[in-house]
Amino acid sequence: MPTEPETDYDPELGRKFIFVTGGVMSGLGKGITAASTGRLLKNAGFDVTAVKIDPYLNVDAGTMNPFQHGEVYVLKDGGEVDLDLGNYERFLDIDMTFDHNVTTGKTYQHVIEKERAGDYLGRTVQIIPHITDDIKRRIREAAEGNDVCIIEVGGTVGDIEGMPYLEALRQFAHEEDEDDILFTHVTLVPYSKNGEQKTKPTQHSVKELRSIGLQPDILVGRCSDKLDIDTKEKIALFCDVPTEAVFSNPDVDDIYHVPLMVEEEGLDEYVMERLDIADEALPEAERENRWRDLVTQQTEGEVDVALVGKYDLEDAYMSVHEALKHAGLEKNVDVNVQWVNSEKMSDHHADRMREADAVVVPGGFGARGTEGKIEAIRYARENDVPFLGLCLGFQMAVVEYARNVLDLAGAHSAELDADTPHPVIDILPEQYEIEDMGGTMRLGAHETDIDAGTLAAALYGGESCTERHRHRYEVNPEYIDDLEDAGMVFSGRAGNRMEILELAPDDHPYFIGTQFHPEFRSRPTRASPPFVGLLEAVIGEDAHAATTEEVSH
Ligand code: GLN
Repeated sequence: MPTEPETDYDPELGRKFIFVTGGVMSGLGKGITAASTGRLLKNAGFDVTAVKIDPYLNVDAGTMNPFQHGEVYVLKDGGEVDLDLGNYERFLDIDMTFDHNVTTGKTYQHVIEKERAGDYLGRTVQIIPHITDDIKRRIREAAEGNDVCIIEVGGTVGDIEGMPYLEALRQFAHEEDEDDILFTHVTLVPYSKNGEQKTKPTQHSVKELRSIGLQPDILVGRCSDKLDIDTKEKIALFCDVPTEAVFSNPDVDDIYHVPLMVEEEGLDEYVMERLDIADEALPEAERENRWRDLVTQQTEGEVDVALVGKYDLEDAYMSVHEALKHAGLEKNVDVNVQWVNSEKMSDHHADRMREADAVVVPGGFGARGTEGKIEAIRYARENDVPFLGLCLGFQMAVVEYARNVLDLAGAHSAELDADTPHPVIDILPEQYEIEDMGGTMRLGAHETDIDAGTLAAALYGGESCTERHRHRYEVNPEYIDDLEDAGMVFSGRAGNRMEILELAPDDHPYFIGTQFHPEFRSRPTRASPPFVGLLEAVIGEDAHAATTEEVSH
């Protein structure tokens, strides 16, 4: 787990803070609305960052089950965080750090450690002011060096866990100048049976917020459609905001269109006015419009990609989905992801895989569904189907090769079969002694050296890449020579650690696996090379000869 910095912040720096809370129910996509607003501010020339507050007691998201919470997102400093941070990184095209995710576990742990160290000697340590002070410190430190910081409070107003945070925000508002702070509240506007947009849930939620001492400046209504003017007026009247401070957030097919929607309603302009930064914004004609061009371009063709995993939940593989989408934006094709349940390879899931143009086996933990993944890899290898294996997918590609090409019966990863006669994937030596599960894997950005003349070199356009990791196991050095003699090429290494595997062009059109997770660095405006290569292989471009425009990877 990354260590926490404790720097002195200067409250006079004049940064702007946009707080985003949610009402009525969770899952309204307030993060996407916030990130979209941030994107527009960035297009207008401002440096924007974000903080995600997760009011749970876990110190970080690393120990959480993807089925309940969606994927664990990994930052470059190795922070294991909520997937919302991935959205902020993608929308704002920034690299965040572990301290941009504030959790109750982290805050309490820090305050209690300070108490044990004697830092509060003589005093009673309390939620107010010690926890609330620590929350405010974290927000200010994370905002450092930026013009605008968006702070999203997870959960909904009224949750017991969220109370200390809302209290901290209330204090925060008193400590900063009025035009440096903006409160945005996102709520649900449902339809009644007779087709009327209902504002009562919004009214109640704002009432709750006000009882804690917070008055929203902006209200965003999540609704299947845009809010009618009557609805906006009613919300404005009951919630004590001007009508022009009420915005819609209607359903859209593609989350990358939300910034366009936000812009259409003028939320970004309103935010700039209220924060008194409109004069510093770039004139409309000079604003960055690459995002708009990319997400509105006319695509030519479709690619079906089979994603072979154990969770029937898009959020569990969110960054992989997004990375495929980004590659599609770069290659101008629509990517349809077909979920293939690796536990059901004997039924229609296998048919679905066979109908797809490419196969991706993503990361994972635990034995469930791994035989199906191995089967999928074999199918892709033997049938020249473009294949990308990520982390566990990379490891299973080694297992498959060992079993079916090297004839090592029962070869496996020591993680998944402790008694395997051939542990071709084994625990990292530095992990032997580690017993704690939280924050102890090989995490975050590490550099990989790439061999010249390989597929990996063509994809990354250079001799190295720096990608993010999250693993405890690796290729067992004892099997490397045998695997290479049998045709597997380890084209990327970090010391004697195998990072990238591939098959030679004579053996396969596109077969690549990475011990790292390239999906975490993929952005709509900067697609990840292994994903781009996968699509190129499908649409008939020679991925082995490809060079990406971006050599910065
Ligand atoms: N379970 C494997 C390991 O720990 C792979 C991890 C992953 O896919 N993120 O090495």
